[in-house]
Amino acid sequence: MCFQRRNWRMPAWLDTLLDRRGRAELSLEPESLGLKVCKFGGTSLADAGQCRKVKAIIDTDPERRLVVPSAPGKRSAKDQKITDLLYLCHAHAQQGLEFDEVFELIRDRFRRIADELGLDIDLTADLDKVQKEIAGGQSVDYAASRGEYLNGRIVAAILGFDFVDASEVIFFDAKGRIDTARSYAAIKALTRRPRGCVIPGFYGLSVEGRIKTFSRGGSDVSGAVVAAGAGADVYENWTDVGGLLMADPRIVPNPRTIDKLTYRELRELAYMGATVLHDEAIFPVREAGIPVNIRNTNDPDHPGTLILPQSALPEVTGLIEITGIAGRKDFTVILVEKALMNSEVGFGRRLLGVLESNGISYEHTPSGIDTMSVVVHAQQLDGKLEKVIEEIRATCNPDDVLIQPGMALIATVGRGMAHTPGCAARLFGALGDGGINVRMIDQGSSELNIIVGVAAEDFEAAVRAIYGTFVKD
Ligand code: ASP
Repeated sequence: MCFQRRNWRMPAWLDTLLDRRGRAELSLEPESLGLKVCKFGGTSLADAGQCRKVKAIIDTDPERRLVVPSAPGKRSAKDQKITDLLYLCHAHAQQGLEFDEVFELIRDRFRRIADELGLDIDLTADLDKVQKEIAGGQSVDYAASRGEYLNGRIVAAILGFDFVDASEVIFFDAKGRIDTARSYAAIKALTRRPRGCVIPGFYGLSVEGRIKTFSRGGSDVSGAVVAAGAGADVYENWTDVGGLLMADPRIVPNPRTIDKLTYRELRELAYMGATVLHDEAIFPVREAGIPVNIRNTNDPDHPGTLILPQSALPEVTGLIEITGIAGRKDFTVILVEKALMNSEVGFGRRLLGVLESNGISYEHTPSGIDTMSVVVHAQQLDGKLEKVIEEIRATCNPDDVLIQPGMALIATVGRGMAHTPGCAARLFGALGDGGINVRMIDQGSSELNIIVGVAAEDFEAAVRAIYGTFVKD
C-alpha cells in the first residue's frame, strides 16, 4: 500500500503543517477528522510535571485517540529508568537475593506521580503482585514489561481513557514476529470505542500465552504496530528532542532540524548512526503508508520531523539540497590485490565466501581492476582477523592482502541529490578545501546518498565541512 492509497485524504493537520512549511507538496484534498496514534517516550512521562504536558497535548486534539506510553524514564542524567530497575529486581531474584530496596524505588516513583496528579487510582495491589511474581521466578520479559503496564494504568487515569493491556492486542507468532492479522484486527476494534485508549508499549503476548517484550526501546515498535493496525492518519512519536537533526550536534553546533524526509532516507541515516526511532519501528508504518511525526513533548508547538513515503514528496531537481549527514567510525578495510583479477571468474565470490564462513557481515566492496577491498566494521573482526587473512590467502591466492584500520564512513543523504549535477563536486570540493583526504567513495545507484571513507581522525572535520557547504544559514 502506498501513501496515495484509495480514499486517502490529506488530514487537516498535515495540510496546515505543509502550509506552514512552504506548501507545494501534496495534491490531496484536506479532510477534517482523523486518527492519530501518539507514543510517548520515557522522559515524556518521567514525573508528574511531564505527565501534565502529555495531558495537555492529548487534550488539545480530539484526533489523538490512541496513546502508547513507555515506562517512566530518567528525570535527570543521574536518575534511573523504571525499566532498568525492573531488570535489576529480576537479576537479584534470579540469584536468590532480596530486592525490596530496589523495588521500593519503583513503588515510590509511581506513587509520587499518582499522588502529585491527585489521581484516583491505587496501584498497591498491582505493585504487590509484580513484586511477588518477580520473586517467584517470573520471566525477565514479564518483569521488564511491568513498567509500561503500570504506567499505562496511570496514563489512562490521567487522560480519562480506557486502559487496554497490550497482551490483549499485540500478538507474536511462533517465530517471535508480530502476528499482524491477529494484532491488527484487535487494534482496529479499539478505534470503534467511544473513548480513547491507552495501550502500554514494549510488550505483547507470545503464542504460548506469555508476556514477551521487544528489544530495548521497543515502545516505538508498539506505537508503529498500533498505528498500522488502527489505520491511523499519522503516528506521532513524542520524545525529548525537536525532531531529527541534519547532523550530530556534538559535531556540528546547532544543526538544523530535518522538517521532512522519506522512510528510505531515514533508514540510510539511521544505519549510519543517526538515532531517533527504534530500528524496527519504521517497517509497520511504512508498509501501511502512514506518516511518522517526531515531536517534542517539551515544545509541542514545534512541528518536528515528518517521515513520509517517497510518493508524498515532490521530486527535487536542479536544487542542491541534502537531507542529512550521518557517520560512524571504526571501520577496517581489507584490501586484496591480484594481477589480472578482472578476468578471474569467481574471485569476488571466494573472497566474500571467506567472510561469510566466518560470520562476518561487510558494508562495502569498492574495487579496482586488480584490487578489491572489503569494508568491515572493526567489531566484526574481533579475534578473527588473522584467521580471515589466512583463509583469504589460501582461497584467493592473492598477490597481497593489506589491512587498513581506522576508517570512518560518512553518508550524505538526500533524495534531492538524484539527477542533480554538482552535488558530488560540492561535497568533494568541501573536503578538498578542508585538507581532508578521501579514502573511499561509494554512491549507491539510487543516488540517495554519497558515502565517503576518511581517516577516523578526520571524521569530525569532514562532517563539518560537508554540512557547511550544503547548509547555508
Ligand atoms: N521501557 C523500555 C526501555 O527502556 C521500552 C521503551 O521505553 O521503549 O527499553
